[in-house]
Amino acid sequence: MIFVTGGAGYIGSHTCVELLQAGHEVTVYDNFSNSSPESLRRVERITGRAVRLVEGDIRHPQALTDALRQSGASAVIHFAGLKAVGESVEQPLRYYDNNVLGTLSLLHAMGACHVNKLVFSSSATVYGDPLHLPITEDHPLSATNPYGRTKLMIEDILRDLYRSDPAWHIGILRYFNPIGAHPSGLIGEDPQGIPNNLMPYVSQVAAGQRERLQIWGQDYPTPDGTGVRDFIHVVDLALGHVRTLAHLEKAAGCTAINLGTGQGYSVLELVRAFEKASGQTVPYSFAARRAGDIAASYASPERAIQLLGWRPQHGLDAMCADSWRWQQGNPLGYRPAQG
Ligand code: NAD
Ligand code: UDP
Repeated sequence: MIFVTGGAGYIGSHTCVELLQAGHEVTVYDNFSNSSPESLRRVERITGRAVRLVEGDIRHPQALTDALRQSGASAVIHFAGLKAVGESVEQPLRYYDNNVLGTLSLLHAMGACHVNKLVFSSSATVYGDPLHLPITEDHPLSATNPYGRTKLMIEDILRDLYRSDPAWHIGILRYFNPIGAHPSGLIGEDPQGIPNNLMPYVSQVAAGQRERLQIWGQDYPTPDGTGVRDFIHVVDLALGHVRTLAHLEKAAGCTAINLGTGQGYSVLELVRAFEKASGQTVPYSFAARRAGDIAASYASPERAIQLLGWRPQHGLDAMCADSWRWQQGNPLGYRPAQG
């Protein structure tokens, strides 16, 4: 049994599918602050397997400990967290409370229940403005906003915990830019309000829900002047978690692992690939750089390949086609269409 905090969210729901299909049982613990139970019903539809669900907040130690104990889980995957960079600048205490205190609460609960295997969702944001590309895991760490600082603080907490007790098995997964959706079209990213991230914004423009994409910056030192990112299909990312759990079975430690493809694409390249996959045009205009953005970021995926035997299988065209299928089939995300 795997205990999945934040398992109803975008990456969590895709990971639940892959866990169930790999033969694991799953208990999801989620407060639905940024998701809905509908995603888990869809996970059950895709897999034909049941998901155990406990509605709760990771910052409620007693409820969390009870749920973890009752699940009988042998490992935890910890997705639960807030993730909007701009919001974290405006509401830093909310981010430290939810992400950092929530994680401390989880680590206490794991200690109380004698569960010492943990996979944690970190982010490439902990590399700050990259000093070299591709980014290897030994690249210096820094943060430029409260969201990034919560990830860095949690990573430091996990490293300290492992130093104090080497019986822990901890995988820190640093995600690059997850996009795409399950090929069934049943689960995908469901942002509330105006999307912060590129792919959901592009899909909503292609679907005619928004007028045009603003491309933030055309004067970066990149081949076409727009930002370059390492986009990774969310199903490949999900499979990385299943592989990490298998790795943690074998070895104690506290290891950071990049999950990216190693290939950078520019914002304009993504827009063109999306137009091709969807058959729609995506109107755009250029705007000033977004504060805090970096020019280019892409992973060295060597450690994941070596340690986990994991390689991403989906290219940019599949990422776009799957995002578009999800967008078309679910124009309002998980909210039911008005009859
Ligand atoms: P998401 O918002 O879709 O999922 C997070 C889930 O956690 C949601 O279901 C939400 O309801 C739940 N949650 C939040 N706070 C909670 C709390 N206090 N108690 C219980 N549940 C809570 O986000 P996602 O894109 O699936 O991201 C998952 C994790 O991966 C996050 O930690 C995020 O910071 C990290 N990450 C995401 C990206 C990305 O681009 N999506 C990149 C790097 C890292
Ligand atoms: N971006 C953009 N317009 C948007 C959203 C994003 O031009 O509406 C650009 C952004 O400046 C960056 C890239 O797309 O260069 C990826 O941004 P996103 O927020 O998806 O991920 P990040 O790498 O910043 O976490």
